[in-house]
Amino acid sequence: MKRSEQRAAVHLDADAFFVGCEVASEPRLRGKAVAVGGMKRGIIASASYEARRLGIYTPMPTARALKICPHLIVLPGDYEKYEHFSRMMFSLVHDYTPHVEVGSIDEGYGDLSGVTKWSPRTAAERLRQNIRDHLRISVSQGLGANKLVASVASKLRKPDNFLEVPAGMEREFLAPLEVKWLPGVGAKMERVFQAAGLHHIAQVAETTPESLELIAGSAAGQLHDFALGIDERPIVTERADAQSYGKQETFDEDTTDEDFVRRILRGMADHLMAKVRADGKTIRCVEVRLRYNDMEQSRRSESLDEPTDLETDVYGVDRPLGETRVGPTGQSAFGRTKTIARLQRQRMASSRTRFAGNGI
Ligand SMILES: [Mg+2]
Repeated sequence: MKRSEQRAAVHLDADAFFVGCEVASEPRLRGKAVAVGGMKRGIIASASYEARRLGIYTPMPTARALKICPHLIVLPGDYEKYEHFSRMMFSLVHDYTPHVEVGSIDEGYGDLSGVTKWSPRTAAERLRQNIRDHLRISVSQGLGANKLVASVASKLRKPDNFLEVPAGMEREFLAPLEVKWLPGVGAKMERVFQAAGLHHIAQVAETTPESLELIAGSAAGQLHDFALGIDERPIVTERADAQSYGKQETFDEDTTDEDFVRRILRGMADHLMAKVRADGKTIRCVEVRLRYNDMEQSRRSESLDEPTDLETDVYGVDRPLGETRVGPTGQSAFGRTKTIARLQRQRMASSRTRFAGNGI
């Protein structure tokens, strides 16, 4: 069995987020031309898709928006509300993986590579449904082998869409798209590309990095990789310490003793869950990582049905160990095993309950 990791990155991007939060809080707004924006000399910060169909876009001066669409409902921004929704949304992502990168208030990445309970696709779809059920906002999602294709996929067919880029199809997926889809290609760079006859990503991929450097300068190497669908950027979990409990151990000698490794894991679970209880927290997502003597790594994470602060609830998560222990030679090969049990606390479980109780 191949132990090397297949990456599965999901990118979430909430649709018309500020307006989505307002509509979730006031269902009578649903289906209407609604915008969030400043009234006097302000601009529109977010517009419902109904409003967009009438010609409203962001950023547009509010006065002009009201001229185009006199019945547009313009609400003042309530940033505390949006931050609350944002925290709730990312908390739901944490139910599936401890590796969450918050990009901005309404978009971010989750690394679903270690999820064992479901396929990455199923996990992503469940997550999207969870967000819809709990928060009543819609998000668009892209799933792929790296951050680049995941983020392009999430934005390509908004709103309320899910798009998976099959592994190995990154270059083909990007090829027909306009160059503006490449990260770092803004309006100015796009004009430079077009002047050079490069309209689609396929053309950037076919240009040599040397020629590309004449057009794009020092960004050329990175842009060429992107055009080929290559993106090694990791999903960077911020404030990891605040969101998870972890412990790791490297053995002095190689071992192939599965029971020994399992005992170590249980010891780690006992130690970490005592900390979780002492902090008055609960955890929901458990991840076990094994590193072998050849530095290859396997990762398994599991989302529990209910948040817990009991070690006995997380003992079962070491079960998939048996599937990963067989090396290419057919022997058990934990080798110089580094084990990381990362226990991620369930954030804001109580506030979510309160939230649901409000009927928002
Ligand atoms: Mg968005």
